[in-house]
Amino acid sequence: MNSFLRILPFIWPYRRKILLSTFFALVVAFLWGANLSVAFPIVKVLLQGETISDYVDQQIALCQEEIQQRTRALERLPESRLKRRAREQHDLAAASRKLILLTWLKSHVLPWVPRDKFDTFALLLGLLVLATAIKGVCIFVQDVLVGSVVELGVMSIRKECFRRALNLDYQTLQLAGTADLMSRFTNDITVMRAGLTLLGGKVVREPLKALACVGFALWVNWRLTLMSALFVPIMAAVFYRYGRILKQASHRMMESMSRIYKSLEETFDALKIVIAFDAARRHRQRFHRENKEYYHKAMKVVQIDALTSPTTELLGMLAVSVAILPSAYLVLRGTDSIWGIQLSDGPMDIAELSVLYAFLAGIIDPVRKLSSVYAKLKRAAAATDRIFELCDRQPLVSDPEDPVPLPRHSESIEFRRVSFTYAQHRQHAHRPPALEDVQLTVRAGEVLAVVGDNGSGKTTLVNLLPRYYDPDHGAVMIDGVDIRDVALSDLRAQIGVVTQETLLFDDTIFENIRYGRPDATPDEVYAAAEKAHVTAFIDRLPEGFQTVIGPKGQRLSGGQRQRVALARAILRDPAILILDEATSAVDAQSEAEIQQVLKEFVRGRTAFVITHWITPRVLDFVTRIAVMDKGRLVATGSHEELMRSCPAYVNLYHAQQQRGPTRPADPVADGTDGQDTAAAAS
Ligand code: ADP
Repeated sequence: MNSFLRILPFIWPYRRKILLSTFFALVVAFLWGANLSVAFPIVKVLLQGETISDYVDQQIALCQEEIQQRTRALERLPESRLKRRAREQHDLAAASRKLILLTWLKSHVLPWVPRDKFDTFALLLGLLVLATAIKGVCIFVQDVLVGSVVELGVMSIRKECFRRALNLDYQTLQLAGTADLMSRFTNDITVMRAGLTLLGGKVVREPLKALACVGFALWVNWRLTLMSALFVPIMAAVFYRYGRILKQASHRMMESMSRIYKSLEETFDALKIVIAFDAARRHRQRFHRENKEYYHKAMKVVQIDALTSPTTELLGMLAVSVAILPSAYLVLRGTDSIWGIQLSDGPMDIAELSVLYAFLAGIIDPVRKLSSVYAKLKRAAAATDRIFELCDRQPLVSDPEDPVPLPRHSESIEFRRVSFTYAQHRQHAHRPPALEDVQLTVRAGEVLAVVGDNGSGKTTLVNLLPRYYDPDHGAVMIDGVDIRDVALSDLRAQIGVVTQETLLFDDTIFENIRYGRPDATPDEVYAAAEKAHVTAFIDRLPEGFQTVIGPKGQRLSGGQRQRVALARAILRDPAILILDEATSAVDAQSEAEIQQVLKEFVRGRTAFVITHWITPRVLDFVTRIAVMDKGRLVATGSHEELMRSCPAYVNLYHAQQQRGPTRPADPVADGTDGQDTAAAAS
């Protein structure tokens, strides 16, 4: 239940609808009990051959007799027995009230009630049908009201979770993985929604129905009804146990679903590779394995779920028997006590026994229904936990409480003795840090190439700049200001990132460029497109700038995609530019063009160019080179200086020469057509 308490703030705005739906549930519950109470007159008519008028007359006679007896008893009681007199007076008043009601019924209602037995029976059935119809309408209205509250609540939760997820830092989200996030936002929310619908519908209605029956049953015979209640703690204990097992099992089931999502995502994301390497079978096998695991986890839930209904029914039947057996004894022996224990106010008749049975059995049905939703509720609770666990995650990178302003960068960028280890590697003492004591100062306007072997920490280093993560030790300073003291939006507004991956959206080219600065005018967008040489190919597209480029920009070639991404970065007009292997995966023709664009673009900005491919074109536009090796900065300088003084750089350069013209992201090298690996983000 604690899990669902978290949902309360999201549905609180719709409390009026909830109240209204509870009112309808109350009507349903009352009608449920009232319908069952028809058992009483039906038995009277069918088995005892009485009509309603006969019954009322009989009751009036009994009442009058009782009043006389009690009046006489009261007269005989001495004044001193105050307590006893009070009780007699109370009972006398109750009997008088009953008599008034019965006489009213006789004079106002009975004239309308048929005197014939069959007609009476038909009337009762008619009333039953009418009450069932009203009950049906109430259930419908309650379900619709609950449905609308649930949908609105889930919408707010989804919105809030998405907001919080986007506030999380890059590292946390990357660690969680797209598949896990997707499964929380889709599967888990669906499961939670199903639970909430039950919670507002059946979980309110059914216990009220049961309570109505308990109320009616207590009215018929409170002593025997209380005997049945002995089973309540047993039922509670059984359900508590089931509940715990169910919640754990549901958790595992959802984790397993996350893995299915992961397998799907990886397969569909790398479809080209899957086809090129003819690996469909391997992916099928893995998918099958995950599915089988899910099946086993799901079966555990199914088994417990299937157990709940029969268990409830059995316990319910036992509870009913405990009350009905002594009642039957009372009826058949015409007595009101067993072993001297009084169990009824007077001898019970068969009609009373029938109606008591109807009410007690009427409790079982809602409880059984309730138990059948139990598993779903537990699953929903587990899903709710998973959703809020995501919402509750604290970002590792956050805005400072009192941010200092950051004017447009114009002096220097300094990595001041920075060290960094990825969160998931912190426990592994043997893993060296990704960055170790890096000290580097870059003057404004410099174009710095960052080179080094794969995994030497180039990307990690520049990723500190937009605060994808913060260094564990040391600081990153822009113009002497620690970037942790600056508002994230101010910092990121100054940085443009162009990466190797394709990161465009399924929208028009125009909107993809305008993503860089949503308030840009169309003319500014066209100017950026011109600078990035987008205009050169746009005329060949059927709808020009309004061409929709498909998911991840798949309808464009690699080179075209990268130019659109560059236009997006240009529009942002950043003071600091990060180019991460920006040209490593396009064909030679595109590369030349893009290099030209970049050369113009970096003018007047401080740029970091990550590359492990030192070509004359790269050397042509960088002003300095920084060499990374195993997380350390080993040297900085010009190509010539480094060739003279830095063995690591010389090795890197020669290794690259020996590898020849085949570049790292060459089509032949990674099995792709080389068109889709370059892209940009800003
Ligand atoms: P480079 O850009 O020079 O190829 P990286 O900065 O990407 O190197 O990686 C440096 C080290 O950090 C490597 O050992 C790599 O395995 C590790 N690393 C990189 N990205 C992550 C990540 N997201 N999570 C964990 N470890 C990472």
